[in-house]
Amino acid sequence: MDSVVLSGVSKSYNGRFILKDVNLSVDKGDFITVFGPNGSGKSTLLNIIAGIIKPDKGKILIEGRPSKEQIIGYAFQNYRDSLLPWRTNLENIGFPLEIKGVSKLKIENEVKKFLKRLNVRLPLDKYPYQSSGGEQQLVAILREVISCPKIILMDEPFSAIDMEGRAYIRIKIQEIWCEMGIAIIFVTHDISEAIQLGSKLLIIDGKTLGIKETVSINFKRPRTEDLLLSSSFVKFRKNLIWKMRN
Ligand code: ADP
Ligand code: MG
Repeated sequence: MDSVVLSGVSKSYNGRFILKDVNLSVDKGDFITVFGPNGSGKSTLLNIIAGIIKPDKGKILIEGRPSKEQIIGYAFQNYRDSLLPWRTNLENIGFPLEIKGVSKLKIENEVKKFLKRLNVRLPLDKYPYQSSGGEQQLVAILREVISCPKIILMDEPFSAIDMEGRAYIRIKIQEIWCEMGIAIIFVTHDISEAIQLGSKLLIIDGKTLGIKETVSINFKRPRTEDLLLSSSFVKFRKNLIWKMRN
């Protein structure tokens, strides 16, 4: 069964349509990247899928049911605002387990086991402010992933991270996606990032009021920063920019 299905979704603000009649279906293991300029409706689309914004028209189903009833993970650009500063990284990642009533000792074991499985190393005893931007965002993502959501929505999650941290976290997110087998919808205004990460790329251009084009991306994984320098990548990117403009 498809993980997410949008049919005929429209959304307007003050009489102006941002999205019109959007149809989309996301498979279980899809890594969808959504690329588009600022103001083109990317965040609106994610918020509609998350059930945070109600569309004017259309239907959203997650594994056949309304999105509000489903567990969805959501990671934002401003990870600093989403982490709890008085908790260590371990306590932040384990927060969803704590809400479920899992004991402290068990949470510690679970989190450590989870990180080992995903081959992630993090300073678990440190607080977010003692960790790098990349580490903080990884903590925010792992806190979403630990409860095994049906889908992870990510809204420009890496744009505030420095270059080195970004290279690392782009690899890690591919590994996490591969290991967990979950669907990811990842919004970015960085075209190279969209190509590096996505299996399918949706172009939103702000004029079409929806998805202008869907492009499959078949570069083999793991896709490192080196791929970005290869001639096939550069050619693919050029082609895509041309498509966007025409
Ligand atoms: P993106 O994430 O692609 O930058 P958004 O989805 O945030 O774009 O916004 C798309 C458009 O909708 C923008 O022009 C924005 O100003 C407008 N918009 C977003 N939220 C609201 C709102 N709550 N009220 C009015 N206009 C909004
Ligand atoms: Mg946005």
